[in-house]
Amino acid sequence: MYWREVVASLYAWDILDEGLENILDVLERDTRTNSTYLVALMHDEKRPLTDFYYPHNPRRKVYWTEDSRAYWKPRPEAYSESRIKPRATDNPELQGVDWLQTLIDGSRARGMTVGAELSHTWLDKERARDEFPDVIQRDIYGQPFDQQICFNHPDVRAYGVALYTDLAQHYDLDFVQTCVRGFHPGRQQPWAGGENPELQRLVGVTLGGCFCEHCRAAAERRGIDWDAMVSRLRWIADGVSGRTHKAAFEMRLLLASSTTSTALLAGIPELYAFLRFRVDSLTGFYREIYRAVHAARPEIDVRLNHYARYPEMMGLDLRQVSRYVDSVRSSDYSEQRGDPGQMAWKRAYLHSVRRAIGPDMYLLSAISPRPQATPELVKEGILISAQCGADALTIGHYDGAWANCLRAIGEGLDEAGIVIDRHAPVVGGQSA
Ligand SMILES: [Zn+2]
Repeated sequence: MYWREVVASLYAWDILDEGLENILDVLERDTRTNSTYLVALMHDEKRPLTDFYYPHNPRRKVYWTEDSRAYWKPRPEAYSESRIKPRATDNPELQGVDWLQTLIDGSRARGMTVGAELSHTWLDKERARDEFPDVIQRDIYGQPFDQQICFNHPDVRAYGVALYTDLAQHYDLDFVQTCVRGFHPGRQQPWAGGENPELQRLVGVTLGGCFCEHCRAAAERRGIDWDAMVSRLRWIADGVSGRTHKAAFEMRLLLASSTTSTALLAGIPELYAFLRFRVDSLTGFYREIYRAVHAARPEIDVRLNHYARYPEMMGLDLRQVSRYVDSVRSSDYSEQRGDPGQMAWKRAYLHSVRRAIGPDMYLLSAISPRPQATPELVKEGILISAQCGADALTIGHYDGAWANCLRAIGEGLDEAGIVIDRHAPVVGGQSA
């Protein structure tokens, strides 16, 4: 079997600390990596994510990332139509270097393909609170979520288009990828009890986003009776949040009952209308970006980093969105759970993705070499990826990977009989 790529993600501080040539030497030798991407806009997170300390960073044990900073050099003219601009790093160690260009130069020199990722959050909490409170999603009571931008806000649309076209126009990139957080998924209330987690998620979504004025306008343009829908959802939200005793009682009764999610949706069409509205909104956002970025650079690969366990809770319908992306990265890291019993989830998740995008779209399957992964689980993850119709492998992430699990990637490819060849054709459903 041929796969076209093994893709590795890197952060600016990885390159600073370990040196790009050293990193690429290791990745080429141990994992067959022939493609890289920079997490170019990175959210607030502790690195390494899944363990206390870095396994091989020679300069530090941990790194606390800044909130939603850009590690390329944004061109001001790209943001002339956008009120929101990307925020540069405040870390003196990282300032003054275009880390994306650094990665492109080093990767191209080895004949690798290169991409950039716009990660989960595109606006830092500080500016969200002080400068752009209007672009933040609102809950049903009008309260803003910390930094989750609303995809129906015209300024958010303009910002998304500007980010993508800036990267596509000014850098020699093969792909631009995102895993931006969708609509706030709401929350479950453990006190509410019940044995049906799906039903809990469904009622909990009424405490999610978004109920802002731009969503109202977008919904009304679609012919939705916003006030009627919100008032019906408010009863559920009051029950889940315990805001009123009567609604809380009724919610407890629902969750203690044998009522199914299907029955609830059939009985409350406003809840279904809300779910559809979020899906249509997010699809429209991706459609706008796709058209703009392809107008700027027709050959670029617009890639979705598909990470949510339950994407429907954030308004993502992968089948709809797949019309407006060129490839999908399945971001399942089951290996790092360290439990062979969890690998069945990886298989099911990949089946969900392939089912949604069809047999012809380029699908990259992630593999995690991080704690608690073992070489055996890494190899099993590669085999499952192949069995589930993946076209390429993508490593998440190098910074937290122990050497034995990195080596297991190359060994696992060999043992599964998978040859990495950039020029291998993508085998689709209709191909011989
Ligand atoms: Zn909104």
